[in-house]
Amino acid sequence: MRFALAGNPNSGKTTLFNRLTGGAARVGNWPGVTVDKKEGICKYSAGAIAIVDLPGIYSLSPYTPEEVVARNYIIEENPELVINIVDATNLERNLYLSTQLLETETPLVIALNMIDAADSEGLKIDPQALSGELGVPVVPISALTGRGVADLIETACRSAAASRKASSVLEHSAMGGEFRQIVNLLAEKEVEHPVFHAVKLLEGDKLETDELKNRSGALSEEITRIKSAIKLDAELENDFAAAVADARYKYISGRVRRAVAGSRTADKLTASDKIDLVLTNKILGIPMFLFFMYIVFHLTFSNSFLWVEGLPSPGVWLQGLTEDFMSFLSAAALRLLTEREAAEWARGLLVDGVLAGIGAILSFLPQILMLFLFLSIMEDSGYMARAAFLMDKPLRRFGLSGKAFLPMLMGFGCSVPAMLGTRVLESEKERHLAIMLMPFFSCGAKLPIWAMFSAAIFPDSADLAVFAVYTGGIAVAAVTAVILNRTVWRGETTPFIMELPSYRMPGARSLLLHLWEKLKGFVVRASTVIAGATVVIWFLSNFNLSLSMVEANSAGSILGLLGGAVAPFFAPLGFAGAEDSWKAVVAVLTGLIAKEMVISTMGILYNPGIEGDALADENAGALLTGKLAEVFTPLSAASFMMFNLLSIPCMAAVAAANAELRGFKRLAGVIFLWLFTAWSVAFLIFNIGSFIGWR
Ligand code: GDP
Ligand code: MG
Repeated sequence: MRFALAGNPNSGKTTLFNRLTGGAARVGNWPGVTVDKKEGICKYSAGAIAIVDLPGIYSLSPYTPEEVVARNYIIEENPELVINIVDATNLERNLYLSTQLLETETPLVIALNMIDAADSEGLKIDPQALSGELGVPVVPISALTGRGVADLIETACRSAAASRKASSVLEHSAMGGEFRQIVNLLAEKEVEHPVFHAVKLLEGDKLETDELKNRSGALSEEITRIKSAIKLDAELENDFAAAVADARYKYISGRVRRAVAGSRTADKLTASDKIDLVLTNKILGIPMFLFFMYIVFHLTFSNSFLWVEGLPSPGVWLQGLTEDFMSFLSAAALRLLTEREAAEWARGLLVDGVLAGIGAILSFLPQILMLFLFLSIMEDSGYMARAAFLMDKPLRRFGLSGKAFLPMLMGFGCSVPAMLGTRVLESEKERHLAIMLMPFFSCGAKLPIWAMFSAAIFPDSADLAVFAVYTGGIAVAAVTAVILNRTVWRGETTPFIMELPSYRMPGARSLLLHLWEKLKGFVVRASTVIAGATVVIWFLSNFNLSLSMVEANSAGSILGLLGGAVAPFFAPLGFAGAEDSWKAVVAVLTGLIAKEMVISTMGILYNPGIEGDALADENAGALLTGKLAEVFTPLSAASFMMFNLLSIPCMAAVAAANAELRGFKRLAGVIFLWLFTAWSVAFLIFNIGSFIGWR
């Protein structure tokens, strides 16, 4: 059996989906988080039920990509049942979709979600009465706490077994007679979901009328004839879609009133409204957003917490602890290998290859998790939706709408889902632009680079350095967008309509899920792709072209030769001039495959090697910090960081861009633009910096 979850954006579908399936899909206090449908297996029931999480929609008229996905699924793939999840605190608006779902033949159960919030707002909804009015079961639940969910599944299983008769608000309207004629006509022709299609035809839904014309011209004419007999109220100006919408609202307000006692006092500001007076202030809104972001970086990266000299911020403190733990591990490994008298190459591979490579990135895990915790809190509380609202106007200047802010925000996590997330954007031009700009939003895999370099090169203002990387990336994105808009990608930007969700206390469960996903992803990548790659890097840096072992990390190794050959391309950027600089070049190159590789490659290449055995008392991260401070100047570090930020993010992102752009030419164009932007910005930073006497 398959049950589909349908409901308005932000009604709690994904929260319920995760609760039902034990899944970890992304929940956000943000309309439009789910673009595609997701499937999982329900663990509440004895038998297996597949649960499909559909994208959030306000109606079944296919105007947006989300509506197309949801409607096609319900109408064409015929799930056994639809669970219509409605937000009890916003009942009337949510039921607008319900009236359309009632028009299909698919069994339907209404999940009255957020009943906890409705209770605390003093709304008293009688589910029995509501069920009586609508003719389908209504089960009050709280997806957040799990209350009522078992009951919902039980009711759903019972309803799925029985068939349901479609019903429409139009039956009780002025055009009820003509409507029934059309339904009968369609039913005679054995059309599935005749009521649903009849309403759509009456509305004049373009997709439906065209389809019918193609299939049966005679039927189409017949229906046009019936429709012409209808006299609409003068104020509706012969707009059938408006007439149908009007009928829905009248029906809802008539019925709902009978099921709801007590209501919010309309003229009083809710707590949410009051907070918004401050946070979405026209002038102060954006500066406050930047200030909050700065505080987040301060907590995560600063070496002088609360501006107290030498006091580590929580993030730095945790990073230090992890580093100590890592050195303890590598010392133990080295001792074990020495005791067992392992071969020299084996010690080299394990200690100078894998441990040095992975160790260099692993100690940043606490900071990565912390940053994501803060971002998740800002998102789950509903604040990020405000940020999108604030950013809509400025984004418009760059040919994007506030709707593009969400994919971009996801880009701070990982470019891959972010690129897939650009599907919510309606215009193709906007989608291309968003994909093109995506790498400029620093993703999680790049974080070890910022953390390592800010600790090594800018220890006194590490938080500011990382903040500057993030804002610098955004600034480059803005400038690039302006240029592209004036040249290649001219066109209209679609309007941005988003309701602001109420502020909510972020749920611990969903925050932990976010973090767990992040942690799992990081550890899996570190122990598979990155570990494998470190072995390759170690090999390439310890052997020469005739495959005999050379002095570790010498210029005669395969990587040394490769780096040396490519170095001239990077020389104008300032970090490939000095001796040993091929190492930085190789790190940039491996970074094109996966950004974690930048630091893990450096961990291997700048490692003093077995003779030093420095890993015995110091770990890879601390060793590399010291080394980088010798090799880089602040200016060459800035250039190096910007190149890594702006160039090809990783091979997975290239694959995602390829899937979304559909076309080799476009992909090639985007890749070229990434490399071009990275090179030019790094070039400008280094050369303007040198010119005005920075070092
Ligand atoms: P979707 O857009 O429909 O998938 O909605 P989400 O599952 O992403 O949830 C939107 C927001 O509502 C999140 O902040 C959830 O934590 C919150 N939420 C979901 N269910 C409940 C509930 O039963 N009670 C309360 N108070 N909040 C909920
Ligand atoms: Mg969702």
